[in-house]
Amino acid sequence: MISTSIKQELRSIVGEEWFLETPEDLATYSYDAFLQEYTPDGVVIPETADQISRVMQIANRERINIIPRGAGTNICGSSVARKGGIIMAFHRMNRILEIDPESMCAVVQPGVVNADLQKEVEKYRLMYPPDPASMFVCTLGGNVALNAGGPRGVKYGVTRDYLLGLDVVLPNGVIIRTGGKTLKNVSGYDLTRLICGSEGTLGIITEITVRLVPLPSAKATLQAVFSDVDDAAKTVSSIIASGIVPATLELIDRVVLNVIRDYGGAEFSPEAEALLLIEVDGQSSALEAQGKSIEKFCKERGAIQVDRATSAEEAEKLWQARRTAFGAVASLRPNCIVEDATVPVKRLPEMIRKIVELADKYALKIGVLAHAGDGNLHPLIMTDLQDKKEIGRVDKALDDMYEAAISMGGTLSGEHGIGIAKDRFISKEFSPSAIEIMRGIKRVFDPNNILNPGSFL
Ligand SMILES: Cc1cc2nc3c(=O)[nH]c(=O)nc-3n(C[C@H](O)[C@H](O)[C@H](O)COP(=O)(O)OP(=O)(O)OC[C@H]3O[C@@H](n4cnc5c(N)ncnc54)[C@H](O)[C@@H]3O)c2cc1C
Repeated sequence: MISTSIKQELRSIVGEEWFLETPEDLATYSYDAFLQEYTPDGVVIPETADQISRVMQIANRERINIIPRGAGTNICGSSVARKGGIIMAFHRMNRILEIDPESMCAVVQPGVVNADLQKEVEKYRLMYPPDPASMFVCTLGGNVALNAGGPRGVKYGVTRDYLLGLDVVLPNGVIIRTGGKTLKNVSGYDLTRLICGSEGTLGIITEITVRLVPLPSAKATLQAVFSDVDDAAKTVSSIIASGIVPATLELIDRVVLNVIRDYGGAEFSPEAEALLLIEVDGQSSALEAQGKSIEKFCKERGAIQVDRATSAEEAEKLWQARRTAFGAVASLRPNCIVEDATVPVKRLPEMIRKIVELADKYALKIGVLAHAGDGNLHPLIMTDLQDKKEIGRVDKALDDMYEAAISMGGTLSGEHGIGIAKDRFISKEFSPSAIEIMRGIKRVFDPNNILNPGSFL
């Protein structure tokens, strides 16, 4: 519990109306997209780095937990007050501070929504590549703290690859700057990249400088339908091994295709066992040849249908299935657990087979959606969190799934983070010594363990 006098101190820093504590407000901030409920003791909404610094000094003095929160769309439970404390939200800090086309960078506050930045930089014929599917809602602060990726990751990488610098308030209130606007910077330890992906456990990000790239002048979109998921997965490895680097290479398996079809999202051949959605971008002259090669690879590997968009409208139609997928699976059962197992690309067929085997073994409905081009699978477990027996089987399936991914040289998370969701698996990926180094880093930044202590580690 936080005393009335401390609440008053916080209100005097951020403004009377920006400390929330009504039951309705607390309920709103009790969840993120991982859907486990933890009621916070209050919600503070600062407007400046200086206010954040003063709030953190009080929190550090009084040992009050602070949990940073962007739009709350993370699916690993890393923005809830698992161990009590105050949520810190950033929707007052939502300004794009600068777009600098000559230095190919932009400076933003943490509450800027990803798609808003994309739209603004496109006016300068520039692109900010990280494109999480939640881009119309999620914030840059959340993207940096979770090192978010997206469908374009296969060619363009993830958030960390575009970070040039950060302004960060440490748990004791001290403000530091890491990196800057230069495209090259090898001075000292790379704190920018360390804080990226730290899940709000090391510092509060108050300003973000990102690198921009030229907006590709054209793109080609193809969709290939396969009657065998193994053929589709092997086609992914063939395309990558051929030297073509698609901007997007997504795979949808039969389970998800059927759900999309029943939902009215798109039509497919009854024989469809898997679908690949492939996009290449760049100069239009090169795209024609790349499109033809991809079509050939798909057909050689047994695709029963390949469609190539000839207009922006047709391309949008080919994206329809992928865009409907989350909504469709969410409508089937009360809950859908979105997993994030990631393996080296050539192990993709094996990992998909493993997931099908686990669905069978534990009598679960599991579909697969994958950013297949970079080996990032999203097994979708359609379930009911209230059904304790079924959740027991889900837990066992997850245990086996992550064991398998790690044994194939993979990782627990390609883009969604660890959080509450995967904390218990962390020793599968890291040795005790590696975990102790991470704990040591946390102690250096946050000796009193007040910043998001309920998240991983
Ligand atoms: C439908 C759907 C699709 C999705 N698709 C993708 C996808 O394609 N790729 C992908 O990577 N993710 C995806 N996600 C997950 C999620 O959208 C991303 O992880 C996103 O980066 C979270 O941003 P947010 O603003 O919602 O942050 P939140 O969920 O609020 O917070 C995420 C983390 O960031 C920390 N944080 C937030 N702001 C700050 C700050 N200023 N300083 C320090 N720490 C901070 C929080 O403490 C927390 O640990 C998807 C989620 C949904 C629901």
